Amino acid sequence: MQLFPDIHLIDGVTSNTYLIVEPGGLTLIDTGMPGSARKILAYLRSIGKVPAQVRTVILTHQHVDHVGGAAELAALSGAEVIAHPVDTPAIEGTAARDLPSGPLSLVFRAVLMPRLRPVRVTRQVTAGETLPMLAGDGGLRVIETPGHTLGQIALYLPGRRLLFAGDTYRHTAKGEITIPFKMFNYDTPRTLASLASLHEYAINTSLPGHGKPIVRDAAAPMARAIAVAGGSLTPQRK
Ligand SMILES: [Zn+2]
Ligand SMILES: [Zn+2]
Repeated sequence: MQLFPDIHLIDGVTSNTYLIVEPGGLTLIDTGMPGSARKILAYLRSIGKVPAQVRTVILTHQHVDHVGGAAELAALSGAEVIAHPVDTPAIEGTAARDLPSGPLSLVFRAVLMPRLRPVRVTRQVTAGETLPMLAGDGGLRVIETPGHTLGQIALYLPGRRLLFAGDTYRHTAKGEITIPFKMFNYDTPRTLASLASLHEYAINTSLPGHGKPIVRDAAAPMARAIAVAGGSLTPQRK
């Protein structure tokens, strides 16, 4: 689904995969569950693109529903693979991957993890760096939003007030913006703090990893979500 002339949403891969289309090549932000590469490649074909045009794969964090197609896509395209240094070892398979807490972890271990292939991260990025995609609008500024995983990043495009949020928050079916379910968060208070920290950014377009993108007029719902997250961090008076 085309959200903007140069930004697409590839849905149907559990988490939202975003595609940036530029004359110099394609950038994928996240890659869905294991087995999603096929669907992503089919989408590329449907808009007249080929795998070799994928120059960059940005992984917002190490979770299996975001990195599942990365190894196959990188192998096919030779794309640069970008992630934060803290999540890189899990993505590369040299450290244990975060799993949900509770009984769901058993399902993940039995069903998903055996299908997941590690992928080499060829460029590690941290807060304050700017990636050259959509440079006419200021490029993608790396924001660190630890908590959901400790090495999660979001990407902010200042010229369009647009945020690729990863799982910094989710957009629920009821239209609420809130943090991911607790069982998926490494550290829920830090997850709340990261959402609250987004008050520094004017966000008109919200592109999260789960739930519907808000293409315009995201400022009011974002402000509400940020206020709720910030409020829940304030120590309660006894
Ligand atoms: Zn996640
Ligand atoms: Zn996710």
